[in-house]
Amino acid sequence: MKIFISADMEGISGVATNQQLKTPSEYQRFRKLMTADVNAAIEGAFNGGATEVVVADGHGNMSNIIIEELDPRARLVSGNNRVMCQLEGLDESFEGIMFVGHHGREGGSDVTVISHTLAGICVEEMKINGKVVGETEMNSYVAGAMGVPPLFISGDDAYVKEVQETLPEVEGAVTKRAVDRFAAELLHPEVARKEIREKAEAAVKKAKQAKPLVIGEGPVTFDLKFKGPQQAKMTTTLPTVELTGPKSIRFTCDNMVTAYKHMWGCVIIAMTATNGVLGSVNA
Ligand SMILES: [Zn+2]
Repeated sequence: MKIFISADMEGISGVATNQQLKTPSEYQRFRKLMTADVNAAIEGAFNGGATEVVVADGHGNMSNIIIEELDPRARLVSGNNRVMCQLEGLDESFEGIMFVGHHGREGGSDVTVISHTLAGICVEEMKINGKVVGETEMNSYVAGAMGVPPLFISGDDAYVKEVQETLPEVEGAVTKRAVDRFAAELLHPEVARKEIREKAEAAVKKAKQAKPLVIGEGPVTFDLKFKGPQQAKMTTTLPTVELTGPKSIRFTCDNMVTAYKHMWGCVIIAMTATNGVLGSVNA
């Protein structure tokens, strides 16, 4: 049984602020904590019956997990030029997807630690066929289009509550209590990892009964609201993109996987447009 793990960093046990993930000396500590939480999920997955585990590092530059400290039974997708963003490596051969260290969406109803949707610098809101989604729900729809059900999530308490509104069946391991967007009441990482291990095992044991999250037949429409008008405008270089407001765009694709790639393309453009598209490259 093949299990896919999408790993992020904001919901990792021990993380409470953005500075911890950005300050170079602190960042090295948190890479280790991230790798350890992922290892707990891998161990739980194998204990639950997995025979293969692929981990996709999905935070920031997507090269955070320390490969030499990773459980050697797993393989790691690392590096950031990925057409499939946080899901690179996922296909129909997997029997479940787990989300380790993820976080609540931008503008969610409860305060969650370092909440954002994919790229805090540019995305204000993301809707799929009219429904507001965070990263976990969006990625679950893409996995669902491949017949892969979501099984497990870990992160702060508000994130777990937010996701379980859409995915009530997933096992949720709480790593901390969200106090503010940049504050948390942390569990000790060993305590959090025990819960990750146990819930990941329970989730994989139930994988055969789990149901994929499916968007349904027919075309898929994304509505993206960006933080700045320059971010929205530059995505209209793509002929498929319609400007629906000063900061809002819409596009429609034939299916969820194509729509996900298109969304990622728009976010890449929007990120680079923040301070002028050629500002950061030696073109
Ligand atoms: Zn992240």
